[in-house]
Amino acid sequence: MSKPTLGNPQKTIEILQKYQFTFQKKFGQNFLIDTHVLDKIIRAAEISKEDMVLEIGPGIGTMTQYLAEAARQVVAVEIDRNLIPILSETLSGYDNVSVINEDVLKLDIAKLAERENGGRPVKVVANLPYYITTPIIMGIFENHVPVESITVMVQKEVADRMQTGPGSKDYGALSLAVQYYAKPYIVANVPPNCFMPRPKVGSAVIRLTRHDTPPVHVQDERLMFDIIRASFNQRRKTLVNGLNNSDRLKLPKEVIIHAVEQLGKGAGVRGEALTLREFAALSNDIATRRPDSRKG
Ligand code: SAM
Repeated sequence: MSKPTLGNPQKTIEILQKYQFTFQKKFGQNFLIDTHVLDKIIRAAEISKEDMVLEIGPGIGTMTQYLAEAARQVVAVEIDRNLIPILSETLSGYDNVSVINEDVLKLDIAKLAERENGGRPVKVVANLPYYITTPIIMGIFENHVPVESITVMVQKEVADRMQTGPGSKDYGALSLAVQYYAKPYIVANVPPNCFMPRPKVGSAVIRLTRHDTPPVHVQDERLMFDIIRASFNQRRKTLVNGLNNSDRLKLPKEVIIHAVEQLGKGAGVRGEALTLREFAALSNDIATRRPDSRKG
């Protein structure tokens, strides 16, 4: 099996010129050109020869080469068809990599894991296209894709959002979803000069290790996340008004008021002040009291 040949600016420029590749801004293309960062990502992902890795957006295959060395099998999903011939060349030395030319948001990842890994949890590793970080992560968690961990490069600000709690302006639906499903850990901050072309913002590598069981008991996950989204959609409003105004929830006001009172935080509390545990309690109370709840 080959050793990685990419991961520095010269090699990247060489291959891009050979194929006359032009970067597509709409696909969030910022390729990694720093071997130290690549080593750090691979180490943080703790990949072994047992593992199947799903890579989202392999680009020219830089990180894919490192992943192929460490893993049993790598499946890489790339939307840009202009990169496919490049990947054929850069990954030709590896017999454990397959490339799928598709939009990852349209792919049934759970089915892919079932087919390629017998339904066992996969590891997701990626330098994510920043314009779709949240839908990718939320999609994996909310659709119960069997993943063990997700180790990804994201915008620094998004990594902060995933880790934070009440009291921070960054706290929101993404923080709560990530922390309900996984334990976040920021592995490294990465400056713009580690990419080609340079992004305008700082980046960070974050590892999300999936909980075996979520840290709080929730009767109806979908309801809790609908409540969370409704609370943060109208950040400036009180929690009661935010939930009352939601077309999706359609809850009687007395059910909302009862649940909020149970929190003991006053009627004027805002959603952004609630912890995950409090959102769980709120949604469990609403789940048993809303008109269509099936009791007993
Ligand atoms: N992994 C490469 C690296 O680190 O050098 C490239 C990372 S670049 C930030 C993001 C990659 O995701 C690009 O190759 C881009 O074409 C691809 N991409 C963007 N949107 C995608 C989508 N919806 N589905 C799959 N790949 C996508």
